[in-house]
Amino acid sequence: MADLEIPLLDPDAQVKCDSCVWSGKWIEVQLKIVNFTARIAVADKIPAGQCPECSDLVFLVNHNSVGDHGLSYTARRLFPLFSELHSGLVKLISDGVITPENTGEHWHWLRSTIDKIQMRTHEVLAEELERILRDR
Ligand SMILES: [Zn+2]
Repeated sequence: MADLEIPLLDPDAQVKCDSCVWSGKWIEVQLKIVNFTARIAVADKIPAGQCPECSDLVFLVNHNSVGDHGLSYTARRLFPLFSELHSGLVKLISDGVITPENTGEHWHWLRSTIDKIQMRTHEVLAEELERILRDR
């Protein structure tokens, strides 16, 4: 039953409700989304808040510009924690605290997930650096 506080990145950005006919500016919506885990699928688009008329989710009209901002914002905020979790697990494995013996059938999943995180992090960072260099 977690609530999600949406960052107001652009008060004048156009938003609209997915359920009713309401549309308006981002600053007019309720930024706290109550019980968001039950309302937002993991792969769904990022909502901009709750509708002032019907309390359902509202979304940015222009997804390409500010919508990507929301994703970047979330990724930036989570990345340090993610890195900490990853390096913590790697250390626990190298210290022999987490072993194939004490994890049993979960070992393969754990090991391959840690490897995938490392690989994917490298790929994403490389892509981002390439993009920055290209756009310069
Ligand atoms: Zn609505």
